[in-house]
Amino acid sequence: MTDAIDYQEIFREIVSGFTDADDRGDVAAYIPELVKIDPRKLGIHLTTVEQIHYSFGDSDEKFSIQSIAKVLSLTLALKILGKDIWTRVGVEPSGSAFNSLVQLEYEKGIPRNPFINAGAIVVCDILVSCLTDPKVELLEFIRETSGIPTIDYCSTVAESEKRMGFRNIALVNFMKDFGNIHNDADLVLDLYFHLCSIEMSCKELVQAFLFLAADGINPVTKTTVINSQRSKRINSLMQMCGFYDEAGEFAFRVGLPGKSGVGGGIVAVHPGKFCIAVWSPKLNENGNSHKGMKVLEEVTTKTKFSIF
Ligand code: GLN
Repeated sequence: MTDAIDYQEIFREIVSGFTDADDRGDVAAYIPELVKIDPRKLGIHLTTVEQIHYSFGDSDEKFSIQSIAKVLSLTLALKILGKDIWTRVGVEPSGSAFNSLVQLEYEKGIPRNPFINAGAIVVCDILVSCLTDPKVELLEFIRETSGIPTIDYCSTVAESEKRMGFRNIALVNFMKDFGNIHNDADLVLDLYFHLCSIEMSCKELVQAFLFLAADGINPVTKTTVINSQRSKRINSLMQMCGFYDEAGEFAFRVGLPGKSGVGGGIVAVHPGKFCIAVWSPKLNENGNSHKGMKVLEEVTTKTKFSIF
């Protein structure tokens, strides 16, 4: 059912209400390539399940989607492996930073969830075990899911991250010691760094994630990406774990399942209604887009469309 809401006007109102105090945070500096991004960029795109589009600002500009891509790698692994995946990675919020090592020691190498770095690395290990050419097949899956054949990795970002990825190197080796990484650590990390380097615009992100607003079926391509029960589970995981140690804050302020990335992007889903993506590169201390969270909070407050 179409909502008689002019989201475009709402986006304009929200952005024109921003003050200097809203312009906080820093671009991610630990991945050298990401520091080059213009911190003033701001893009918003919303598509309803009936495929009505609303956009604002730099919504057509591609950026590094980083950890947002972890939802798509999980979707593919779930399709291939089914529920057995949950013997290798948990479904609980971590309450700690996205790249933290601490829980892994006392939880014997089983990451809390698939969206912290450790969990996404295990998902990559699963894909390396199950696929013949993991980098190619993962990209094909994302292109099919979104219906956008031009989506690609950015090798400069992947290389940049590989050079500085000491924590991720530590995580994969630590988990290998516990027996939860089955393949060569470098091979697994190569897939992980490429996954994080994928570039999409807000508009493309929404198109790739719209299946989570429509019971697993992409309303644009009409293809079943995943069954409705698994679509529900992915949304639940985004609700509980999509923002690391700020998942509670995001639920409290926005009230939608979502996923962030250190490129400054956030995707959020209202099952049955819409998918929205925001991009603003300056991050808060938890690695989530400062303005992105603010835009989403105001959208759900003004429209009253949160899931709660
Ligand atoms: N590629 C980043 C990393 O591994 C992803 C982190 C993120 O987007 N939160 O650190």
